Amino acid sequence: MSLALVYSRALAGMAAPPVEVEAHLAPGLPAFNIVGLPDTEVKESRDRVRAAIIQSGFDFPKKKITVNLAPADLPKESGRFDLPIAIGILAASSQIATDTLDQYELAGELALSGHIRPIRGAVAMAWQGAQAGRSFILPEENAAQAALLNTATVYGADTLAAVAAHFNRITPLATAEAAADSGEEEHGPLPDLAEVKGQHSARLALEIAAAGGHSLLFIGPPGTGKSMLAQRLPGILPPLDEAEMISVWALRSLLPTHQQRFSRQRPYRSPHHSASAVALVGGGSDPRPGEISLAHQGVLFLDELPEFDRKVLEVLREPLESGEIHISRAARQASFPARFQLVAAMNPCPCGYLGHPTRACRCTPEAVARYRDKISGPLLDRIDLTVEVPPLPAAQLQAAEAGESSAVVAARVAAARARQYARQNKLNAALNSLELDHSAAITAEAKQVLAETLEKLSLSARSYHRILRVARTVADLAADDAVTRQHVLRAIGLRRAL
Ligand SMILES: [Zn+2]
Repeated sequence: MSLALVYSRALAGMAAPPVEVEAHLAPGLPAFNIVGLPDTEVKESRDRVRAAIIQSGFDFPKKKITVNLAPADLPKESGRFDLPIAIGILAASSQIATDTLDQYELAGELALSGHIRPIRGAVAMAWQGAQAGRSFILPEENAAQAALLNTATVYGADTLAAVAAHFNRITPLATAEAAADSGEEEHGPLPDLAEVKGQHSARLALEIAAAGGHSLLFIGPPGTGKSMLAQRLPGILPPLDEAEMISVWALRSLLPTHQQRFSRQRPYRSPHHSASAVALVGGGSDPRPGEISLAHQGVLFLDELPEFDRKVLEVLREPLESGEIHISRAARQASFPARFQLVAAMNPCPCGYLGHPTRACRCTPEAVARYRDKISGPLLDRIDLTVEVPPLPAAQLQAAEAGESSAVVAARVAAARARQYARQNKLNAALNSLELDHSAAITAEAKQVLAETLEKLSLSARSYHRILRVARTVADLAADDAVTRQHVLRAIGLRRAL
């Protein structure tokens, strides 16, 4: 055989489109050309593949070698194609058996020694490639991650020689075991709500947010436990289900190898306010997921919200509505899922002590107004719950009993979520206005209270639906079928006007 075909996959955002690697040997002056990779990467790939083949004890054919990667217009990080290119050359030169080659997809970067180095996107690749019905041969480190999915047969290999021995049926590769640390928790055990003393309204708001999937803003001076509360949201949310976990892991696999963590906990991300737009929403010349996608199916906590660049915050509007982020950069477009729950926190004023019982605020009214104006109206409009986290006097804090534990709250949250899925197959926060009017079952009395409040506070129609969604969740937590006046009043109370 002088022509061989090997299957692999590229990475384009979350997608892992198929790539065919053809290797052709022709008589003539020895040469080695690769078509379909950017010129700058061709030389490096050629050098790695040639050295790895020789170091693995094979002959590097003294022929005119042409390798073609198709289709040509896909983004291709060259490293991941080293292994399929080398296997293609070995197959085309009859150094390995080719009868089972079409049952596999391969990816891996080769070291000059013939060792196989890890690649990005292994979980995304195995997830999407599983439908093609092929097995995967991946670098050892990545194979254990891809095997977490249970959707595909994955073999791990650490050298080119081991892959060749597999095809030649000398020593078959072992099927990869799911990474043993898959259950390893990212931040240790989740912190418990029992550790938060007092702060009744803030705890209630957190529970409602968890139950209905609502976004939440905490306002209060430094040191009142805003971050502490936010960190406890993942612990009262239900555990990730299988489908959610796969998408979370597929996203993680797109990060540089040393940053990849595979945990069964709901993601919790808290980027600093100095984070760039690219760090927050993703991007780069070879687009990578940003913080909002790493928070997919979990919690995105933005502390000191007004300190974030306003332009950066504006970008959050799209994913908050659609659960996705589209990045276009030059010729490349990429989409990443970003269905996160937003929790934000801010001080009441630049110095932080406005309204504090014992410390004086030194801010002018103009400075306070400027500070609050930094959060754009449209973003604020997408926050369902706004709640104050006041400082508690030391005596009161000491007297306060430990709050309910996360497990107790999580049980109520799970019951309320089950009611929502049974009724409308989604969380209340995800209902559009039409669906909401259908599902809310609001009593006439409650409707009247809501209408009066809207008029008094001159709120928009959007606010009407925001409040109604929260009221629906309050009713679900109480296991009530109808949204009553009491539920509406509670929802209004948790929407402090800024
Ligand atoms: Zn102040």
